[in-house]
Amino acid sequence: MFDDIPTVTLPSGKSVPALGIGTWNMGDSKNEMPKEIAAIRKAIELGMTVVDTAEMYADGRSEEVVGEAIKTLRDDVFLVSKVYPHNASAQGTIEACERSLKRLGTDCLNLYLLHWRGSYPLKETVSAFEKLRDDGKIKDWGVSNFDTDDMEELFSVENGSNCAANQVLYNLSRRGPEYDLLPWCQSHGVPLMAYSPIEQGRILSNHELIRIAKAYQATPAQVALAFLLERDGVMPIPKSSNAERVTENRGAPELEITDEDWAALDAAFPPPVKKTALAML
Ligand code: NDP
Repeated sequence: MFDDIPTVTLPSGKSVPALGIGTWNMGDSKNEMPKEIAAIRKAIELGMTVVDTAEMYADGRSEEVVGEAIKTLRDDVFLVSKVYPHNASAQGTIEACERSLKRLGTDCLNLYLLHWRGSYPLKETVSAFEKLRDDGKIKDWGVSNFDTDDMEELFSVENGSNCAANQVLYNLSRRGPEYDLLPWCQSHGVPLMAYSPIEQGRILSNHELIRIAKAYQATPAQVALAFLLERDGVMPIPKSSNAERVTENRGAPELEITDEDWAALDAAFPPPVKKTALAML
């Protein structure tokens, strides 16, 4: 059995598990759907109850897969979806949310994110998010792919400081956020959801990561996730359509890495020494 997953606290005071599951590319193929549904259910069963999707993924079919997976488990899930920037107008945000709710088979999202910055003024999207919250269609709202200057700007608009999360590209090979964005989010109490936390699998062949993982009878993916879980307010959302890999990823919080091995990881994946623009996948 596993120990409890560490938690992250939202500005509302609500605690959520710091490890969830992503669903990009789910819903692309009908044949894969039963496997994808089983993987999401496995994550929920193991306590990784943060389920991340978006209207963009597979043109809404990822949301349908998630909807099917959580049908009988809705109350156990912290459900996250995202609005396309080109839908993020005052009215467009509300209509996009309603379409997402329908595909997900629910009447309320736990968290609704602006997928990335587009051309609608932040003030307009924020007021739509606030209306959705007042109407009970979402519990919280947040953003994605926002760098520090975007967060500053967001906090300067009316109700902008109600932002409950920022979802960005962050993993061992993409440590740029540690320079200023992560400290900014931590000091403002905004959880940082780490997307592509294993760099879509590309970092798993790194020799040093493999060496360290072996020393703990662990896997490179588990060490890569443990690295993120070590940081306050960081919530990795690894995607897997494979229940066995979901179980493997669930083992990440169990690892107790020594200072010596953290230093070895720093040498293999150096932390940033200057500001770099936030990368996006
Ligand atoms: P991840 O870093 O989570 O990697 C997913 C890939 O790794 C899949 O190919 C998966 O394959 C494989 N994998 C998962 N676990 C393991 C393991 N233990 N060992 C080996 N391979 C593994 O990449 P994503 O880009 O999917 O990011 C995660 C989630 O973040 C997305 O699904 C999405 O929800 C969100 N996201 C948000 C973005 C944004 O702009 N806001 C952008 C990108 C992602 P398999 O399924 O076959 O196991």
